[in-house]
Amino acid sequence: MEVHDVVIVGAGIAGLATAIALKRVGVKALVLEKSEGLRATGAAIGLHPNAWLALEALGVVHKLTTTTYPPLRKYCEDIPHDPEMIKKEVISNFAKNFPTSYLRVVQHSDLSTVTWAPLLFRFPWDVILGNLSKGNITVAGDAMHPMTPDLGQGGCSALEDAVVLGRHIGNLIIKNKKLVAGDQVAEALERYVKERKWRVAKLIVGAYLAGWVQQDGSGWFMKFLRDSIFYRHFSSLMSNDQLYDCGKLPCVSSSNNELDNDPRKS
Ligand SMILES: Cc1cc2nc3c(=O)[nH]c(=O)nc-3n(C[C@H](O)[C@H](O)[C@H](O)COP(=O)(O)OP(=O)(O)OC[C@H]3O[C@@H](n4cnc5c(N)ncnc54)[C@H](O)[C@@H]3O)c2cc1C
Repeated sequence: MEVHDVVIVGAGIAGLATAIALKRVGVKALVLEKSEGLRATGAAIGLHPNAWLALEALGVVHKLTTTTYPPLRKYCEDIPHDPEMIKKEVISNFAKNFPTSYLRVVQHSDLSTVTWAPLLFRFPWDVILGNLSKGNITVAGDAMHPMTPDLGQGGCSALEDAVVLGRHIGNLIIKNKKLVAGDQVAEALERYVKERKWRVAKLIVGAYLAGWVQQDGSGWFMKFLRDSIFYRHFSSLMSNDQLYDCGKLPCVSSSNNELDNDPRKS
């Protein structure tokens, strides 16, 4: 039976990217996924430059630049929904002040393309002050920093998480010539959390503010806030976040990498 050093729960973008990052530093991970098969939720994922830098660090960027996109597919597994109800809700509540041409698009949209997924959110202070690792266990991606989708950074920052986590584990392997489960891994995970928490808390705040100014009404105050303050000053700060470079993975040679996870030997 194959022996794994790490178990990753969830084969989303965070889990899969972390498995790759760990593999690059010589750590074998077993990825567990509760869903039985691949599925599509939503239409697409936008990857900002920070995500491409992370993908480059993971060594997979060349695979994605040649990808062609499959046709959109409706998927809803766990959450029962009625597309007709969603359409009515969109028209009568969310989009009621939109120009009629926009409403016509909603009215004529193909119901088979409607998808529904719950939005998750964690307050930034819970990320900064909360416990994001415990012993040899930590979180990444939405499990660490669920945010509103308005900056399109949830998946991008999950890729950054993977690189940073892989780097701290890789550095530990270089230092000790092997990976030994125990206090040092726990400390490496704490360093990972420390490096990530301010970065992702800032993204949570930015995404929330971006959503708020864009969606919260069309009164004069909101218009002023959106057009004269947010787009003029704040959005350039946000675009710096999209250029964030999470760094590289360390080079772990196979002689560095005599894995030893048996605590009895430590
Ligand atoms: C409308 C919308 C638009 C978005 N647009 C963008 C965008 O343009 N760019 C971007 O970067 N991000 C975007 N995001 C955010 C992005 O989709 C998420 O941040 C990202 O998919 C999170 O990845 P994840 O791997 O952390 O979590 P998930 O994708 O949720 O993956 C978690 C996986 O774990 C599995 N799982 C859960 N519990 C268990 C368990 N107990 N055992 C085993 N498996 C389990 C689940 O089945 C799932 O496959 C958007 C989000 C929304 C809602």
